[in-house]
Amino acid sequence: MPPTGESQLQLTDIGQPNDQTSEIEWGDPKKLRVAKSTVLAVCAGVVVLLVVVIIAVYFAHPDYGKPEYIQVTSSPGQSPYVMVDRSDLSMAVHNFTITSIIMKCTVYYTRVKITLTTVGSTAVPTDVRLPTSLTPIRYDVRLRPDIYSNQPDDFSFTGSITMKFQVVESTHVITLHYRKLEIDGNQISVQNGLSEITVTGVSTDESREFYLIHLSEALTPGTECTVSMKHFEGPLEPDLTGIYYSSYLASDNTTHYLVTSHLQPTDARKVFPCLDEPQLKAIFGFTIERKSSYQSMSNTRIKDTLSLGDDWYSDAYEDTPVMSSYILALVVSDFECSTADNTSVTPPQTTQPTSLSLILSASHVAVPDFAAGAMENWGLIIYRETALLFDPLTASAANKQRVAVVVTHELAHMWFGNLVTPSWWDDIWLNEGFASYMEYTGLSDMYPEWEMENQFVVNSMQYVFALDGLASSHPIYQTVNHPSEISQIFDSITYYKGSCVIRMMKFFLGEETFRKGISKYLSDKSYQAAHHDELFDALAEQAKLEGKDIDVRGIMATWIRQMGYPVVNFTYDSATGDVKVTQEHFLLDRDQEMTTTSEFDYRWDVPVTYATDENGLVGDPEVSWLHHEEDQVTLSIGESVDWFVGNVRQRGYYRVNYDPESWQRLIDQLNTNHSAIHVQNRAQIIDDSFNLGRSGYVDQMLALNATLYMQDEEEYIPWLAAEYTFTYISRMLALTDKIDHFKEYVQRQVSPIYTTLAANEEDNHLKQLLRRAVVRLACGYGLQSCVNASVQSYAVWMENPLNNTVNQNLRSETYCRAVASGGLKEWQFAREQYSIANSGAEKDALAGAMGCSQNTGALNAFLQMAIEEEEIRRGDFRSVLRAVARNPLGRHLAWNFYKYNYNTIFERFGESLFTMSSMVAEITESFSEEYELYDLEAFSEATTNKGSAEFAFQQAIEKTRINIEWRKQHEENLAKWLDIHSSLSG
Ligand SMILES: [Zn+2]
Repeated sequence: MPPTGESQLQLTDIGQPNDQTSEIEWGDPKKLRVAKSTVLAVCAGVVVLLVVVIIAVYFAHPDYGKPEYIQVTSSPGQSPYVMVDRSDLSMAVHNFTITSIIMKCTVYYTRVKITLTTVGSTAVPTDVRLPTSLTPIRYDVRLRPDIYSNQPDDFSFTGSITMKFQVVESTHVITLHYRKLEIDGNQISVQNGLSEITVTGVSTDESREFYLIHLSEALTPGTECTVSMKHFEGPLEPDLTGIYYSSYLASDNTTHYLVTSHLQPTDARKVFPCLDEPQLKAIFGFTIERKSSYQSMSNTRIKDTLSLGDDWYSDAYEDTPVMSSYILALVVSDFECSTADNTSVTPPQTTQPTSLSLILSASHVAVPDFAAGAMENWGLIIYRETALLFDPLTASAANKQRVAVVVTHELAHMWFGNLVTPSWWDDIWLNEGFASYMEYTGLSDMYPEWEMENQFVVNSMQYVFALDGLASSHPIYQTVNHPSEISQIFDSITYYKGSCVIRMMKFFLGEETFRKGISKYLSDKSYQAAHHDELFDALAEQAKLEGKDIDVRGIMATWIRQMGYPVVNFTYDSATGDVKVTQEHFLLDRDQEMTTTSEFDYRWDVPVTYATDENGLVGDPEVSWLHHEEDQVTLSIGESVDWFVGNVRQRGYYRVNYDPESWQRLIDQLNTNHSAIHVQNRAQIIDDSFNLGRSGYVDQMLALNATLYMQDEEEYIPWLAAEYTFTYISRMLALTDKIDHFKEYVQRQVSPIYTTLAANEEDNHLKQLLRRAVVRLACGYGLQSCVNASVQSYAVWMENPLNNTVNQNLRSETYCRAVASGGLKEWQFAREQYSIANSGAEKDALAGAMGCSQNTGALNAFLQMAIEEEEIRRGDFRSVLRAVARNPLGRHLAWNFYKYNYNTIFERFGESLFTMSSMVAEITESFSEEYELYDLEAFSEATTNKGSAEFAFQQAIEKTRINIEWRKQHEENLAKWLDIHSSLSG
């Protein structure tokens, strides 16, 4: 699944410094009509559709490109809906070629900030794996979710199940997973072969989430055994896990409820008793009971619907392929469906809150409340609304890219995860790393003009570098046992570092080798589970066939079995033309002692590449290896080069440091003709120099010198990298008297590009992203023309609320700046518009803006609204907290509010993926004072139950320490540097 999303995912853009913003009016703003009575009118955009269709076509066998749609009108009284024919999902999966996947597919995942517990935390048992005596063959499950009373307190579900197992070892006890289920132990029967076995009793092991059925005699190995449980029941809550209820407000102002599901990683057991481990795959036959005004959806197609009397109906689904329990799914709702074929899109009914896009082999469903960005259930992909629904009239280029990225990510999972599944959760990076990488490669192919490969280095690699430079990071491959540990590894390391090392592998193996090796791996392991060594061996074998002897296992072990990454030092001797290359572990706090040891002693097998002014812009660079046991390698690059850059296009997962002379030559080149250096390497130089400076590897002012050329930079990626740098500094200085000087410097740097863009209405996708980033900087750092434009544009909207003429690409920035510059009237207007906004993206922009207020009363009211949940949905709680925390005025309000309401927050979000850990990281990201550290440590210590945030707390504490140290080391020098460079602005 993708993390909640983008960094804005609610998870909305985690990771992107998009807090400070405002906007300006460029070009003809599109008009949006906000109809107060319309609840939610969202269109699945043509773009999304196109992405899906193209990917699916590439993925699948030839017939798959022309899906056939079948109209299914089920039981009387039910609204007709259309379902895609995915009659041959398995065949399609079987016939795809890896080439197409590699070439065409990409997925994005949200920057999830989840943390991992390296060491088993408190008292959770580690021996939580099921006994190996039984393997599942099939499950027949019948469920009846009941939400028809319209009284959420009464909502619940009941069910029955028949399971068939292969008996592998003799046993007297059948051990199943379960959680929060009440099972009627008197209605359990067991059959072994043809004989009935007496059940002598049942027992439970709550800490391991086991339900044990004790038998009068042992089951015989080699036979099959059938277990029937006639009745179990469980609660239906709005907890975003297992099956849960959600709701929306219909156009007549009534609340409608629905049931949806999210079973990854360990919540299938919360829906029915089962063997809930990813490698224990089986066939599922599902039957869902519902009332006539509702319809059900699941992974496969309905094969038959029966009336049960009393207005109840049962929908029986076709058998699923052999698959893991965590990708089972269901939705019971009164949604209307929109359908699509290769050429047309039918927008959903505007009176519905949510639409369903049914595309190709899978149904794509957007639901109002969802923990992640989306979930890749085989055949029924479920999304949060902002990750799927897209209104071309109001959405920004960033929204559009986000949707394309998430859809691509989920489709990639059909192979990476659903077809071939990790043998255990410790290898979940095989799912999420591949899906996160395919986001970029797939969209690169479909939309070359989006330059996704360039975006990768900033959005994924530089983003995760920041986390993985902490001593409290963790390896990609991480031992996990208990569900509370499993949840923690759905984090940036798994998603982003996973995708980075996969990309690195592609480059050192060569694309052809990589593609063929993966293809073989997927086809050999179809419908099975795999360990990462099986992937590495398939790639090494393919390389060998092509005459290349590459120890893929050995190389990759250094990248996935230890945390962190190296800084690779390039020392040039112009007299000999040689470069000496060495490595050391990069740490944001360079003096920190590592308390966790590594079998490789924090050294890596590094694929070393370089480019010079003589060969810099062409071809694939040759790879030289610096192995973990070697002290150094020497490269001969020649005596006559003017400059050179290491780690070409940042394909290797490492930072680069140079001798001072070589740094100076690079900076001189940026200042004279920056375009001679590849755009990815320009972004790299900005990011590496800043972070090397932060940690004392080089002079911090060197990094600021590397941004002096930005006045001439017109490309998106370097600006994005610079924005991260500027954001860090501004957070550190936010509460000091130096902030104004720094703002002047950024204004001076951004002013030329701002003026150019404001005068030019050219609007390709990348330009729109650039414009948004530039406006974030210009307005966020107080450039007067930008602030004025935002205030004015917002005022026009306030005059005529039914006609929003604010530029759709700049709404977050505009709203924020106008609310920050305005008073309560502006804030109140944002609040009103939030309550009637009919798209997730618009709501996100308005919520972000309410957090920009310079009125403490308004910020407090906003936080209160979020906890009360009357005006603000539970799913938006995190973005409210983040918006307030990013506002220097709200930083302590948000933290105190969080502490005060911790128990409520934990109760609401403790079990959902992503949320707890991301919240901690976001609220504390600006902490840089001793008293903040003290407070954070004290709270962490006093809080015994942190759920999946255990690791996030450790990381937040480490980051705060580093921030305090940074200010001690650099604040005064920075002030002197700013005296010189900001005054030049005149
Ligand atoms: Zn995913």
